[in-house]
Parts: sequence; C-alpha cells; structure tokens
Amino acid sequence: MKFLVTLLVTFIMTSFSIEDKEVYLCGPNGAKKYHYTKSCRGLSNCKHEITKQKLSEAEAFGLTLCGWED
Ligand SMILES: [Zn+2]
Repeated sequence: MKFLVTLLVTFIMTSFSIEDKEVYLCGPNGAKKYHYTKSCRGLSNCKHEITKQKLSEAEAFGLTLCGWED
C-alpha cells in the first residue's frame, strides 16, 4: 500500500514538472512552433527575440512542437 502511494505521488510530481516545462518561441507574437532548447536548428533563423514560455501556455495558444526536435 505504501508503495502504491509513493508511486502515485511520484507520478503526480512528474506530471506537474512536465506541465511546468519551459519552451522557447521565436518572438512574443506570431510563433507557430515551440522549441525545447534555445540552440534548436528551428530557432537559428529567428529574426526576433527568443522568448520563454510555459509548455502548457504554448499549447493553449495552439503552438506545436518544432520539426527539428526529437
Ligand atoms: Zn525547435
């Protein structure tokens, strides 16, 4: 029983950390893709400032993961 509780807590903690993961966007507006790393190939052509945003917010805006990511 204790093992199951520990497992559940670990699962919830992991879910929260994924939810709060920060992603990178090209510019504050108009970006359609988000990136896990600032050094991503998809961001190398970015002419705007690279901004950071929470993954959950980026997805709420309809952004999708960049094609260069794994
Ligand atoms: Zn990318």
